[in-house]
Amino acid sequence: MFSRNKLISGFLKTALLGLFLTAVISTKANAMTVVIDPGHGGGGTTGPGAIYPPYMEKSLNLAVASQLKAELEGAGIKTYMTRTSDDQAPSLDARAAYAQSVNADLLVSIHFNSSGDHTRNGSEVWTSMYSSYYTTGYSVGKNILSQLSSLGFASKGVKTKLGNSGDYYGLLRYGVACGVPSIIVEHCYIDNEIDRAILDAKGAAGIGHADAMGIISYVNSVGGAGASLPKTNPVKLTEGATSDGNTAGAAVNPTVKANSGSKGATSSGTGFPKDAAGNIIYTDPSGNTGTFTPEQWNKLLGNWAYTGKPEEHIRKVPLGDLKQMAGI
Ligand SMILES: [Zn+2]
Repeated sequence: MFSRNKLISGFLKTALLGLFLTAVISTKANAMTVVIDPGHGGGGTTGPGAIYPPYMEKSLNLAVASQLKAELEGAGIKTYMTRTSDDQAPSLDARAAYAQSVNADLLVSIHFNSSGDHTRNGSEVWTSMYSSYYTTGYSVGKNILSQLSSLGFASKGVKTKLGNSGDYYGLLRYGVACGVPSIIVEHCYIDNEIDRAILDAKGAAGIGHADAMGIISYVNSVGGAGASLPKTNPVKLTEGATSDGNTAGAAVNPTVKANSGSKGATSSGTGFPKDAAGNIIYTDPSGNTGTFTPEQWNKLLGNWAYTGKPEEHIRKVPLGDLKQMAGI
């Protein structure tokens, strides 16, 4: 004959075991998954992103991403990277497809900015304009910006930008087409005095740490590392949308392709005089004159391609800076 106590205790054990198994299984199936995308990348000097010595964006992005990955993993968040070395150059759609393949809850693209005249500063986050992709991107972005502002960077907000085929930035467009909420974090301007002081002091590790704190606080606000974001229908890609394939975060613009080395800006010195050999003759605002090969010139223009008016920007840059950027 069963004692009543034994029956209850047996029942409780079974129930508790069931609860335990459910918890383990659901954690494994639904753990928060973040794909970190260190922007740009390419062999040798290709795909550098913004350059302002000693910083080359592709390497800086990777260093920040590595710190971020370590800290997210430390917090129990599943983390993957779209590239793990400077010379890898995955296309934008491949980066998004990879995020989809690992069932990512978030795709976070790591970038740094530069401006032609070195006068701009501050952090900004770009996100998709579409429904829940916007709300998710806005929330994560706000958390990250608040951490970056505690390092001293001016916060310029979480923004969206409309292009001629949906979201302006290719990575965001491909990200939401793969059903993954995506953001681009432009941490600061590597060529600006104010931002440089903070960047030099905190280093890539300090910035990766700030990103991690921002993402972890967001993750905690939506249920923690064991939770998962509800999936949203992908945003269909518009026919004819193009990508330069190598420049996460740079504008995908029908007339000017962004910085991607040999596949760089389409202009070959329009509006600038050329010498007999076809080299571009450049005179800076102080009257210093020098020449650049068409290949060097296209690469330089590529650094401002995201502005849509690279030549307008390049005119303001001292010759010495341009030579340094061109590796002369
Ligand atoms: Zn970039």
